Amino acid sequence: MKTLFEEIKASIKNNYNQDRSFWRPVLPWGGVFTIKAGRKAVSCTPLYVEIRLKNTCTIDGFLMLLYVILNENENFPRELSLHLGREFVDCFLYLMDTYSFTTVKLLWIWDKMEKQQYKSEVHKASLIIDLFGNEHDNFTKNLENLMSTIQESYCSNWRCPTRVQEDQQRTININPPQEIPHGNLIRLAVDELFCSRIELCEERGCGGLREFSQRVFCHGPPPFVVLNMQHWKSEDLAYVPYYLDLSDHKYLLEGATLFNKEEHHYSAAFQIDGHWMHYDGLRNVNLILLNKPPEFLLLSSLVYIRATEK
Ligand SMILES: [Zn+2]
Repeated sequence: MKTLFEEIKASIKNNYNQDRSFWRPVLPWGGVFTIKAGRKAVSCTPLYVEIRLKNTCTIDGFLMLLYVILNENENFPRELSLHLGREFVDCFLYLMDTYSFTTVKLLWIWDKMEKQQYKSEVHKASLIIDLFGNEHDNFTKNLENLMSTIQESYCSNWRCPTRVQEDQQRTININPPQEIPHGNLIRLAVDELFCSRIELCEERGCGGLREFSQRVFCHGPPPFVVLNMQHWKSEDLAYVPYYLDLSDHKYLLEGATLFNKEEHHYSAAFQIDGHWMHYDGLRNVNLILLNKPPEFLLLSSLVYIRATEK
């Protein structure tokens, strides 16, 4: 049997000019997991016999992206195992490859999420797990130390009370630059976060100059990064860069997650061999091939993968 990834690739190849949708739902929204109880269970009253998942769009798009990324480069599964655990990566790939969509979501929920990140309750014979919320809370924050970065700064004033400072961040949040109305705002915002710079020290009454070193990844450049874009307005997203330099490493745009505010619903777009696809777990036909790159007007995140070094 072909893996899901092989099937998607084959469908891109075969249906390029005709039907632009994948032949079956991929990672549908929600999910029901039936617990097959043994004979012993009949004699006692089980609390629940099935698990129902609700509002899974806060993890679905990212799970699709993670699956595509793991298939993009033969070294990525090994590298990501260092952060996410080998057992998790192996299990994740096996479940996605074999179309076990509810189980793969449960793997994420139980292995990577904290109990307080989702609501669960027993209703009749079902355990209901509700993932309503923000996808950065439900996914990005649970990527362990994958994207951890650190930046040091020194003040030129010897008497500055906070002369040496360290800024460590676990995820990559960039904010739209305030004063520059045009140009490649995303690249400017990334440079602002990563590049060395000198600024007036903000310590009250100090007056010194603070020199910020280049921001570096604590555990080496990760296979992929997620830029949190939720504070960006559509008008600031006119130009989405296909390449980014992060801490001396080149990254290529792999995909994005999109957020529809009115419906409080997330979907995702990603590319495979240069062909862009849109995934929306709620649609009946939930994976479609686009005839051009999507418009990134309602971004929740941008996902870049590390370019192969030559
Ligand atoms: Zn200072």
